[in-house]
Amino acid sequence: MTQPMKYERAIVIGGGITGMLAAKVLSTYYHQVLIIEKDELPDSPENRLGTPQAFHPHRMLPLGKQIVERLFPGYTKELLVMGGFNTMHQTSRFITKDGELTLTDTEETAVTRRAMLEWVLMQRMVKEERVQFLEKHEAISLQFKEGTNQVMGLIVKDRQVKPGSLHEMKADLVIDTSGRMSKLPKWLKDAGLTLPQTDELSVFLGYSTRYYQIPSGAPSLQSMVVVGQPDKQIPTGLFERVDHDLVAVLLSAAGGSHYPTTDADQFDSETAALTHPAIAEAITHLTPFTKPKGFRVPSCLRHHYEHMQDWPSGLLVMGDALCTLDPIHGQGMTKAALEAQTLHRMLKQAQKNERLSFEKDTLQQMQQTSELGWWLCAIADMAWDGVELKGETPIPHLTFVQEFLNRYVQYAIVTKQPKRLEAYHRMHSFLTEPREIINLEQLNDMIQADTSGETAEWWKQWDQKNDEGNRAFFHEAVPDFRLEHLLSFD
Ligand SMILES: Cc1cc2nc3c(=O)[nH]c(=O)nc-3n(C[C@H](O)[C@H](O)[C@H](O)COP(=O)(O)OP(=O)(O)OC[C@H]3O[C@@H](n4cnc5c(N)ncnc54)[C@H](O)[C@@H]3O)c2cc1C
Repeated sequence: MTQPMKYERAIVIGGGITGMLAAKVLSTYYHQVLIIEKDELPDSPENRLGTPQAFHPHRMLPLGKQIVERLFPGYTKELLVMGGFNTMHQTSRFITKDGELTLTDTEETAVTRRAMLEWVLMQRMVKEERVQFLEKHEAISLQFKEGTNQVMGLIVKDRQVKPGSLHEMKADLVIDTSGRMSKLPKWLKDAGLTLPQTDELSVFLGYSTRYYQIPSGAPSLQSMVVVGQPDKQIPTGLFERVDHDLVAVLLSAAGGSHYPTTDADQFDSETAALTHPAIAEAITHLTPFTKPKGFRVPSCLRHHYEHMQDWPSGLLVMGDALCTLDPIHGQGMTKAALEAQTLHRMLKQAQKNERLSFEKDTLQQMQQTSELGWWLCAIADMAWDGVELKGETPIPHLTFVQEFLNRYVQYAIVTKQPKRLEAYHRMHSFLTEPREIINLEQLNDMIQADTSGETAEWWKQWDQKNDEGNRAFFHEAVPDFRLEHLLSFD
């Protein structure tokens, strides 16, 4: 943008998690923030049509929680008061084919169904003086200032009346947070713009979730993950305590050759066929609360709008509309929180330097928030037959990184080192650089610990035969994700 930024009105398309986090940040800078949401707002924490994924477990990672707490102080406590399950001091089991480790949560975290996470944010947002929710309003297209590449607002359909009336809405900034079904690619093409290639992870992911109630007198039950075996097409199972004495049981598999069942009678038998019977045993103490429900994700997409020379001014995109990650890793909302933090940082900078190319620089920075999540998802998911990565960002030495990480987890479990497993989880939570785990020193530890000599044998195919060559190899295989910069608030 080569003109001074105006901070009169911003419009956010979509009132999901990303939309509300973005609106909260914008409310510090803009006099008026409108959230355009096509759904009717629920009057209690209920799932709604516009977020069909909400039935499935939604875990907020520690980093996401920290950022949301900063924006909405007291958020966690509020969820706990509403019945959220507090994981503080709770243990959870991480079970693999090689054994298991128990981890203890040291932070106060409220695990709830997603509708409740969203509800608490929504209640806060409707009280914000500068923020206005326009429910039952659907963004239909972007509006450009004639003869320019500047977005000056939206055409919006008011769905409160049938068949719906169209209105123009002017804004100095429009942010698309309309999720995985975003129409932004079409809107940009309609405006005559050429889109860069999108990265696509054809994941053919299948989810099936069923809720159970914990009856009084049931033994105390730990949350757990039973890690799947892609080479044998065995799904991953998750058993997670949520709010109000409910447990979510989730089966998930990628690759498309087997989608977990949504048949109530078969759900128990598929659970029993996981790598370990722990979840099947635990649900014998519980009462079914819902039927199983499925969700399929054909592919995860990562748009590269930051490559567009002619990206319109007055427009940004965040959340699933920018990049979707495989939900089994539970990173989507944390990525959204990181993007909100990025938006805050960039708006603050723009206030100081008004001739900054705000939109392009911000898009560039937003893209960085997806990098680690995308890399980790691609590495994990491509272990399943049938999953393919297409696009402009290949992953160098993918097989090496996959096998290294499998061995690392196996090493942590077999040698009973919860700290190492925690580091692995911290990496998946965007708090630890992969280079802190995947490095030569770690490899040497793993080789020493493996008295069978199998790890040393495996390494021979990658060994560059000298220290310098090996360090260069690791350097190439494991990018620097610059987390320090990403995590900084200012
Ligand atoms: C099965 C599943 C499980 C998941 N589990 C987790 C998890 O455990 N942890 C985690 O962090 N993430 C999880 N995610 C990801 C998470 O749901 C999203 O990443 C996160 O909620 C951010 O989404 P969003 O706000 O960008 O989009 P959405 O949540 O999709 O919200 C988009 C909003 O925009 C509205 N909208 C759409 N189009 C328009 C329009 N034209 N005009 C007006 N409004 C519009 C919709 O009604 C909706 O309210 C999961 C995803 C799936 C699919």
